[in-house]
Amino acid sequence: MKSGSPLYCIEMELKYGRVRKGIEQPYLDDFTTNCAIETIKRKKPNLLMMHMIDLDDTKHAYGTDSDEVMQVVTRMDKRLGDIMQAVDEAGIKDDTIYLVLGDHGQFNVRYKVHLNNLLQEKGLIYEDNGEMKWRAYFQCGGGSAYLHIKQGDEEAEQSALAVIGEYMNDDSFGIEKIYARDELDHFHVGQTTKYMLEAKRGYCFDESMDEPTIVDLDKQGVKYATHGYSPDKDDYRCNVVVSGDKVKNGYHIGDIEMVDIAPTIAKILGIDFNHCDGTPLDEIFIY
Ligand SMILES: [Zn+2]
Repeated sequence: MKSGSPLYCIEMELKYGRVRKGIEQPYLDDFTTNCAIETIKRKKPNLLMMHMIDLDDTKHAYGTDSDEVMQVVTRMDKRLGDIMQAVDEAGIKDDTIYLVLGDHGQFNVRYKVHLNNLLQEKGLIYEDNGEMKWRAYFQCGGGSAYLHIKQGDEEAEQSALAVIGEYMNDDSFGIEKIYARDELDHFHVGQTTKYMLEAKRGYCFDESMDEPTIVDLDKQGVKYATHGYSPDKDDYRCNVVVSGDKVKNGYHIGDIEMVDIAPTIAKILGIDFNHCDGTPLDEIFIY
């Protein structure tokens, strides 16, 4: 509601709110699908974007190789079929292009490593009058973590790098690699980030500081998987399928980068989209 058109959101909530149970799956994605079908039929939109989270949620909760994941794939297939049928019924099938894509894979995780505990031990994260303050902290994204340093605090930078150096060679902390700024362009990491850590398979980084530094999820009987790893890791890729008007049939494009998706959509819509990292996937179109 906060980020959308309030009238549209209220209308959808009144019509399909009964399908939803908070953000619980599979109800949330069923709600989203209902809203999309209604919107396609009534408004015939030029661009409709949906974020389906059932598969991501289920992999997080049950691991990547669970029966539950296969059940989600079946649900997603049904939802896609229902959407395609709505496009057909709306009479816009001939000039519609579908892009179905994921933005990451997931790995099963055994160990959660709470990196900020290490900075806290060195006083780089500290309490001041009951308030938490930091000179350096890790922003954790599961398979990787950005190291943020207070601007101009070179001493904090050196101390934080020393902490990383200290734990890097200890396998139990799961730090696979530290990337410096000149290597981060390859991952399209924003220019304000100077260093990034990559986790080993089986490990992930978590930024909370109220748990032990290394938590063994297996020992706790917890199944967990997550994302945020380097796209260059093996068996971590996801899929993109593009189909429809002026798109080649059965053409295998091979590896692409996420940053190419937005310019490709812009190209389909005939919108200028300059000053971005990616380029349109021209080779998939018939001219
Ligand atoms: Zn996720």
